[in-house]
Amino acid sequence: MSIKKSGVDEKVKVVCRVRPFLDHEAPDDSVAVEGSEIKITNQRNTNEIVSFRFSSCHGPEAKQVDIYEQDVQPMIGKVFSGMDSTIFAYGVTGSGKTHTMQGTEDEPGIIPRVAQYLFQRRLDYPKHTVKVHVSYMEIYKELVYDLLIPREGQGAGLSIREDSSRNIFVANLTDREINSLEEFDHIYNNACKNRSTASTKMNVSSSRSHAILSFQVTVAMDNDEPQKDDDSDTEQYALSGKINLIDLAGSEDNRRTDNGKERLAESGAINKSLFVLGQVVESINAASSRIPFRDSKMTRILQPSLGGKAQGMMIVNIAPGQSYFMDSYNSLNFATKSKTIENAPTVNTISQDEPSMSSALSDTPKLGQALRV
Ligand code: ADP
Ligand code: MG
Repeated sequence: MSIKKSGVDEKVKVVCRVRPFLDHEAPDDSVAVEGSEIKITNQRNTNEIVSFRFSSCHGPEAKQVDIYEQDVQPMIGKVFSGMDSTIFAYGVTGSGKTHTMQGTEDEPGIIPRVAQYLFQRRLDYPKHTVKVHVSYMEIYKELVYDLLIPREGQGAGLSIREDSSRNIFVANLTDREINSLEEFDHIYNNACKNRSTASTKMNVSSSRSHAILSFQVTVAMDNDEPQKDDDSDTEQYALSGKINLIDLAGSEDNRRTDNGKERLAESGAINKSLFVLGQVVESINAASSRIPFRDSKMTRILQPSLGGKAQGMMIVNIAPGQSYFMDSYNSLNFATKSKTIENAPTVNTISQDEPSMSSALSDTPKLGQALRV
């Protein structure tokens, strides 16, 4: 039996999602979405408006189903033909990453919707054996933990290995076959509890780790299918595809948050891994010959499902409101590095009177250039 991979060359697309104001937040006009463009305005100096264009941009009114139907399903549906895809939720703590990936019982996010879709689509393959496996891991301070089992006994975490065919894998990571949506829900809910219990015990917010949930879907022709021995097109085969759904650690600027020694070590690991992720996405989209997968655990683990024939999507989550202005600016700017030049940010109006803001903006080369125009 041979394992085939198929698919087209697609890169990592970047979309944006702005969450609504929450009940306790005072609404303002600092974020506006028009079509695929997002504009952020510094309410302290309304001359400062920065706009960014994405392949799609979901405003605060967008529902989970909208994002799923427009951006997620077209991508992950190809798993049944052996195509890998990876979806990241990027953004600062409080911007809606977990809502987007996990959601709530009333408003389920991408993970439960993908699970539901897989079991539904399985029915389209009555003459095949379709197997769905799930694994779920967390990366905290560059250590990898299994979320499908309790944290006790996991010590310093799992190691990343390479087999003789140079396939990268996480050694001893639980890989559970799931047979129904109910079974998935049960396992997933327990795993989410494992994640929060482990973080409480370590006195760490779960927003300081990356959580990677993976579905492996294998479609095999049933053995009793008639085979024509001399026709290679009807050779018995299996297709195997993977979907990685990732709730990234908060991307906040740690210089501004309370920073004990422990928090600094955390911040260093988060900053580095997000930086590497940005570089990886940028290199993939630029079709660069060197992609720095090996520079962080997360990108190393995801290497087989990023670039090449795999498809990717980064959802940049944005919280509205002036208090998030610099966070939003940083997130959007990070995200534009993963896009092509026509998506570069443009500064519509520049104030000469507010050096603090301008110098913060000019930290980043692209916008610095725009500011000097
Ligand atoms: P993060 O995971 O990025 O830290 P959360 O997903 O926990 O952020 O979201 C922060 C808060 O905002 C939560 O209370 C969440 O329920 C709420 N929230 C986020 N996105 C939305 C949305 N699209 N609609 C309604 N509430 C949202
Ligand atoms: Mg979260």
